[in-house]
Parts: sequence; C-alpha cells; structure tokens
Amino acid sequence: MSSKISNRKTQVVNIGGVKIGGGNTIAVQSMTNVPTSDTGRVIAQIKSLQDAGCDIVRFSVPDEASAAAIDKIKEQTDIPLVADIHFDYKLALMSIERGIDKVRINPGNIGGEDKAKAVAAAAKKNNVPIRIGVNGGSLEKGFLEKCGGNLAEAMVESAQGHVKILNKFDFDDIVLSMKSSSVKTTVEAYRLASETFDYPLHLGVTEAGTTAQGIVKSAVGIGSLLLDEIGDTIRVSLTDDPCREVYAAKQILRSLDIGGDYVEVVSCPTCARTKIDLIPIANKINDIVSDIKKPLKVAVMGCVVNGPGEAKDADVGIAGGDGCAVLFKHGELIKKVKESEIINALLEEIYEMTK
Ligand code: SF4
Repeated sequence: MSSKISNRKTQVVNIGGVKIGGGNTIAVQSMTNVPTSDTGRVIAQIKSLQDAGCDIVRFSVPDEASAAAIDKIKEQTDIPLVADIHFDYKLALMSIERGIDKVRINPGNIGGEDKAKAVAAAAKKNNVPIRIGVNGGSLEKGFLEKCGGNLAEAMVESAQGHVKILNKFDFDDIVLSMKSSSVKTTVEAYRLASETFDYPLHLGVTEAGTTAQGIVKSAVGIGSLLLDEIGDTIRVSLTDDPCREVYAAKQILRSLDIGGDYVEVVSCPTCARTKIDLIPIANKINDIVSDIKKPLKVAVMGCVVNGPGEAKDADVGIAGGDGCAVLFKHGELIKKVKESEIINALLEEIYEMTK
C-alpha cells in the first residue's frame, strides 16, 4: 500500500480488509485480462498483480461460468477481489454469494428497481460495497442534453441517479468513478463529484491507450486530481500487461511523494559532455533497485560539470568522467572507478545502505 493519503474526508469503504476513503492510504487497483472462467490463468494473473504491488484486483464477470469461478479464485488468492458486472443483476447476486469483496455495477442499468433492490439487499447483508462506475463513453440517453452538452456534469448527474436508487434501498456503502477517455473531462467530472458526494472516489482515465500514451494521460489526469487532494484509489488503464498498470500507478504516487518507501534513481538526460555509456547504466540500476522497499536516493549523472552537485545531494551516486566515474556517498567523494566497474560499485553501496 502507498504511504500517504488524500486529505479530502469521505466515507470509509472496506473492500475485503483494504479500507479506502476517509484519510486511508490510496490503494492501487488493476484488472485481469484473461477469461475469468479460466481459473488457472486468472489466479496466476491475480498473483502476478499482487507481486507487482496491486492492492485490489478486479475482473469482469460477463457470464455465469465466470461468476461460478469465484469460489475457486477466492480460495486460491488472498487479495480483495472486485466483480465487474454490466446489466445482469443475477451475476451480481451470484458473485456476492460466492464471497466477492466488491461489485462494480450501475444499478440504474440492470433492468428495474426490483433488481437493484435485490442487489442492494444482498450486498448489504454480506458487507459488500458497490462501485458505481460512470463512463463518459456509455452514458445513458438524455443526460448530455439535460446538461447542455457538458459531459462532466452529465456524468455526475448520471452518478446521482444511480446513487439515489441504492440510497432508496438503504444502501450507502458506495464508491464512485467518473471515467472518460478525455483527461480534461475526467478531471472536471471528478472535481465536481468531490464537491457533490461524500463517497470515496476511484480515479482513472479510461481507454487511455497503449503504454506510453496511456501512462502520460493517466499521470496527468490522476496526478492533477491527487494534487487537488481528490481520490482514494487509482487504476491506470493501459492496453498492455496489467502489471504495467500497477508499475505506472506506483510511479504516479511516488512522483507525488505518496508512493511509500522505494529507491529513487535520478539520472541526467546525457549530452555532449557525457563520456560514458550512461543510458544502459541508469536503466540497469533502475531495474535492479525497483524491488527494494527502502527510502534511498541514487544519482546517475553523466559528467563532473553538473553531476557532482546532484550526486552529492543523493545518498549515493556517480558522476561520469572520460571512461570512468567518481562515486559519492552522503556528499563525500569516496572513490574513482573505471566505466566497466560503475554498476557493481554503485550496487555494492546501494545494497550496503538498504540491507
Ligand atoms: S549532468 Fe553533465 S552529462 Fe548529464 S546532462 Fe548535465 S551536463 Fe550533460
């Protein structure tokens, strides 16, 4: 779990032991992308996501075979699980019966209030929260016109309708999301939602795209909201391996100093002054330290002009020379090493300082 929090006070929602909202730490979520009924693959993917640092995993439940698989998935995993359901309330009831930790369903889209009442009653009885997930691309008819074409307002209006239905059946254990593939609309919708509701907010820019574009859009959208102290759980949406979503989410949190303990590698962009092959050195160090959960700042700098200043500011670092580098530790120059020895020399110090 990430170490610091949004200051916006919302209700607290407990998702299988992970509490979000009300000042709790921001939880990282992701979603599996293999058939949920293929239990072997889905369980393996859930475990990979957990190893990558995911706090809550969601999977789609598009049919009864997927809902029936929840027994086995629950039995063989130990991370809170969310069933993503569209339209079919029976799948929600089946998932709740099988011990799912949260359901994502929009109660206004499941074919009538009697069905919403049944889902609310089952969820309440089993302490299962419901996320109402409003998506700009699949907004119900009429809202956009009613809001004069303002999509962010229309999304909040739609959420209000779903919330009212659950509240009517005495259900209040709610999380909300307002995702759009437009960063600006997403940010606007969540800002409005945070003024309108006291429920925890699940942040995400939906259909953000392939890796590089998706990370940038998510970082801008989610990052802007977190800086506004809005958001209680986040999901980066990428057309890629879901573990990459978790790495990206953790990087977003870390860039805002809310990512828990980790080794921060600062490295220079290289320029005409660089006389060592710095890029692979920085990448290698970054890869190797990515699993170390200790607070440490490592500098990998290309030259002795600007390098030593940054390197000295770090706990440990190098500043490159011509085919060599100087090693700094806590601001002190400790030795000079050949280019071929830079990685090992730096790693030796990092391991010593984080053991
Ligand atoms: S630290 Fe040195 S090598 Fe790196 S970008 Fe700055 S001036 Fe260039």
